[in-house]
Amino acid sequence: MDRDLIIVGGGPSGLSTALHLQRIAPHLAPRILILEKARYPRLKLCAGGLVPDAELILQRLGLDTSEVPHVDVEDIHFDFEGRGLKIRIPKRHALRVIRRDEFDSWLATKVRDRGMEIREGITVRNIVPDKDGITVETDQGRFRAQVVVGADGSNGITRRCIFPGAPVYTARVLEVLTPSQPSPKFSEFGGGQGRGPAAYFDFFPVPDNIAGYVWDFPTQVRGEPMRCWGIYDTNILANKKRPQLKEPLAQEMSRLGFDLNDYEIKGHPIRWFSPRNEMSVPRVLLVGDTVGADPLFGEGISIALGYGAVAARVICDAIRGNDFSFRDYRRRVLLSPLGQTLLARWITAYIVYPIKWKWFQILAWRIMKPIARAAAWMFVLNWGKRMRPSLPVWDRGKG
Ligand SMILES: Cc1cc2nc3c(=O)[nH]c(=O)nc-3n(C[C@H](O)[C@H](O)[C@H](O)COP(=O)(O)OP(=O)(O)OC[C@H]3O[C@@H](n4cnc5c(N)ncnc54)[C@H](O)[C@@H]3O)c2cc1C
Repeated sequence: MDRDLIIVGGGPSGLSTALHLQRIAPHLAPRILILEKARYPRLKLCAGGLVPDAELILQRLGLDTSEVPHVDVEDIHFDFEGRGLKIRIPKRHALRVIRRDEFDSWLATKVRDRGMEIREGITVRNIVPDKDGITVETDQGRFRAQVVVGADGSNGITRRCIFPGAPVYTARVLEVLTPSQPSPKFSEFGGGQGRGPAAYFDFFPVPDNIAGYVWDFPTQVRGEPMRCWGIYDTNILANKKRPQLKEPLAQEMSRLGFDLNDYEIKGHPIRWFSPRNEMSVPRVLLVGDTVGADPLFGEGISIALGYGAVAARVICDAIRGNDFSFRDYRRRVLLSPLGQTLLARWITAYIVYPIKWKWFQILAWRIMKPIARAAAWMFVLNWGKRMRPSLPVWDRGKG
């Protein structure tokens, strides 16, 4: 056996699984190997919005995200056609915006500092479980392990190997980076003025069957103030007639003085959580986007970190009990505060997006503000506090 545990993918979910395992059972650290196909700092298409739960989960691991270059956002606006409600958290920022190349690279350094090995530039091609262990086939040879964690993201190979015919729920997402100030050609003609240091979600595309929103966040790239724009569509209304995804994004950017055609558009799917999604087979379990991110907003960083916390406890119990069936993993995810928030957001997505009448969206974001605020407080911003802290429970003996 090369290692007890091989983690496929060194994004937030894989690195969080490793960090939580090391926290719970420090002696397992040298028995963990992470295989990452890219090399840090590697590009990852993502707006980089860290909700407070992400910071809290990392704080409980003794990690401080302020070490990573970031922009803190005081106010988050949830709007319909430019007006709606504002969320502010007393005495702290509502959102911390990082760049994923910097954040993931920082997290990988923390994993290495705690005694775990990451091999970069190795692509996993196949995963073959048998009764004694698992063979992980890569572009650089084979590895054997007791357990494999699939943390290889929305397009990952692990899920495709263990659930080849399973249904796939994916959102379409486009992202664009621009300077923080509007283009001069727009201001010359009296165009938009851009926006200040707040984050905006605008649900105006919903009546056109785009089940999502356009976002606009302040960010930085190598210290330079920038804005990150994008559009998220869960695809819940995929059977309806929809405009091209970039059209509402172009419309919103031009309202604020930016011409989409001046910038590079990038796209990537997000696999989202459904209670129907499979999560494990004997010896293999999935975390992060391989199981599914938040369907309502496509928020996945805190969620990925949360999956890592649950998976670490389940793996620890499996090694201790020498039972690698993982038959209770799904139940433990669904019963955890992470599973509850995912379920609540999945239900909300199926309520809010198919009701595409304009008056309903106006009611939801502009008139029923206290209800929307309370729901955001309960389901989006505070689930991390209810997660059980990962404390050392097993630091002696052998598994
Ligand atoms: C455009 C866009 C904007 C987003 N904005 C936000 C946001 O603002 N806030 C937020 O919370 N979430 C956001 N998300 C979602 C978030 O990016 C994901 O949910 C999150 O990255 C999931 O983490 P993960 O570790 O599961 O997967 P990933 O971050 O995708 O990491 C997977 C890792 O596995 C590696 N890998 C893949 N295949 C293999 C292989 N075969 N062998 C070895 N390694 C492999 C990859 O290189 C990668 O490092 C956004 C997503 C997109 C697409």
